[in-house]
Amino acid sequence: MASVRRTIKRREPVKFSRKMKKKLLVLFSFVLISLGGLVGRLVYIEQVKGEEYEKQVLSQQAYGNQTIPYQRGEILDAKGTILASNVAVYNVILDCKLINDDKDKYMKPTIAALLKCFTDVTEEELRAALADQPDSRYFVLRRKLPYEEIEVFQNLQAEKDKKGKKKNPNVQGVWFEKEYKREHPYNSLASKVLGFTTSGNEGIGGLEDYYNDTLNGVNGRQYGYLNSDNNVEKTIKEPINGKTLVTTLDINIQTIIEKKIAEFQEAHRDEERVGAGSEHTGVLVMNPQNGEIYGMADSHPYDLNHPWDLSSYCSQEEIDSFSEQERLDKLNSIWQNFCITSTYEPGSTAKPFTVATGLETGKIKESYYCDGVEKIGGYDIKCVNRSGHGMETIEKSVMDSCNDAMMQMADDIGEEDFYKYQNIFNFGLRTNIDLPGEARTDKLIYTAENTDKTSLATNSFGQNFNVTMVQLASAFSSLINGGYYYQPHLVKKIIDDQGNTVQNIEAIPLKQTLSKQTSDKIKGYLYKTVSEGTGKSAKVPGYSMGGKTGTAQKGNRDDKKYVVSFIGFAPVEEPQVLVYVVIDEANVQLERQSSALATDMTKQIFSEILPYLNIFQDEELPQDQTTSEGQEGSQAGNEDDGNQGTGDPEYPSEGAPNVMPDGGDGTTQEPEPLGDNVIPEEP
Ligand SMILES: [Zn+2]
Repeated sequence: MASVRRTIKRREPVKFSRKMKKKLLVLFSFVLISLGGLVGRLVYIEQVKGEEYEKQVLSQQAYGNQTIPYQRGEILDAKGTILASNVAVYNVILDCKLINDDKDKYMKPTIAALLKCFTDVTEEELRAALADQPDSRYFVLRRKLPYEEIEVFQNLQAEKDKKGKKKNPNVQGVWFEKEYKREHPYNSLASKVLGFTTSGNEGIGGLEDYYNDTLNGVNGRQYGYLNSDNNVEKTIKEPINGKTLVTTLDINIQTIIEKKIAEFQEAHRDEERVGAGSEHTGVLVMNPQNGEIYGMADSHPYDLNHPWDLSSYCSQEEIDSFSEQERLDKLNSIWQNFCITSTYEPGSTAKPFTVATGLETGKIKESYYCDGVEKIGGYDIKCVNRSGHGMETIEKSVMDSCNDAMMQMADDIGEEDFYKYQNIFNFGLRTNIDLPGEARTDKLIYTAENTDKTSLATNSFGQNFNVTMVQLASAFSSLINGGYYYQPHLVKKIIDDQGNTVQNIEAIPLKQTLSKQTSDKIKGYLYKTVSEGTGKSAKVPGYSMGGKTGTAQKGNRDDKKYVVSFIGFAPVEEPQVLVYVVIDEANVQLERQSSALATDMTKQIFSEILPYLNIFQDEELPQDQTTSEGQEGSQAGNEDDGNQGTGDPEYPSEGAPNVMPDGGDGTTQEPEPLGDNVIPEEP
């Protein structure tokens, strides 16, 4: 191998003047005399031991002809905290051929040195390697050792006596190959957003995957060659390190939301069935003014330093019973990012969109009468309040989460405009967030062409079509920020290894979804919903907040499986932060399946992040809030949007429409695997 790369450089003869030649001759003679011994030795080596010498040079070249690995770019949070970086590790390489070429001289001292310095290496192993692959110049004895573990051996190799002679000249044929290994100082934190890498610096999942090429660099190389004077010369081509991502994530917010999810999963563990507190819980925190994601997490984090370890989710027995495919499927299901890959029916969080559409098109009336039921397409589709809310203004219909009013509004809007606006709000389209694996929902919504009266009616209150969390949160942001739709994103800047900015990723509104006037009205309704309506239990005292609850049934209406949610923002005047919580199949009794679960979690999150973000209190604290707060929370929560399993679903299960467009079944969709067709090398 080394001989192929060997290059002999021929130098052009240099012409000297007579005077210079004379000077050079004097100088040269002097050097010759002092190095006479060495020159003689070189001649001897060339002529007598030429072959053996060449072998040694070749093996030196093998060492000299090395790849110098680049460092993959780091991933930082918005304030510069390192979320993913690199640590240098070393492979221990044996040059079996070199050792075997002079067995008597090298074998014993080299083996002894290896055994002394690497406690887990055995003599049998070494002798087997040298015997089985006698001509190998590249036998990997150990992989990815930290520097501390090779340091002792390196010192032993370099040790010299007082005269400057090597103490262990016969320890030969061992060298170290440097590599970088990905390191995640916060282990599982933001695992779904970050993703991990295989040994070949190939990103799997998350930003590591999406920005793989940006993060990767170009290896350098060290070339060794013999010049015309038979000296080994080295040329180094420096590696080009990868670019670093500065994300919009805030490590503190990320920590808070992951803690809240974990608490929920533990609090309701084994409550109604064996297992964690929910099938899935997802939380998204973002800036509604520019689409920056501050935090994104779900209930299935994994250790980025050990992404192949299933032990947090499966017993050893289960793991042992898995086939390779089953193991990969299981890993894939854990690596998925619920916030972008799973789809579900949004439920009542979709109601503000129906109202916004009505206001924008000017097609809705000022009030609607709710008698508790609408007869549509042969179905009795009921309201939360079965005896009817009575006269509902638009504001009141949002506060009460009145299905009857929404159905009448959708009827007034008509399918043409209703679906035109679903498209404007980007439902059915990918947000193109900078993460891999975003679910497609185009087949999971209706169009004006394929809808019918019943579907339009149920769509008006968020059923019978699917969204992803990131889709709903991005569209919702436009409802409350004056009407601007921003592409949600996680990276705001790309820098080089010197910290110079390579690219600034500016937040640009992609489109205007509604007018400022409509946005202001919606904000007002959502404010009232939290201060006086069904979202009351999300209220953090002292802060103006807006928001909307959501409850939807999953799959077959008879299954009584629910996805409950809450989306909220603060402050109302100029919203700075939006929190969206989705709980899929909470592990609680049927009577307690309500959006109050999500509302409570949202409140807990807001309570911690509003002060952290330096968002000032803009409302008077109620006099009695210290004593009644918690109580009131759960009370108000039970009012909810009434879609909980108290035998009071949004419409009755008997013969209710339960068909998704294009055969979708309204259940959360199975996302495509991340490691699709990848049987990656375990790091
Ligand atoms: Zn009603």
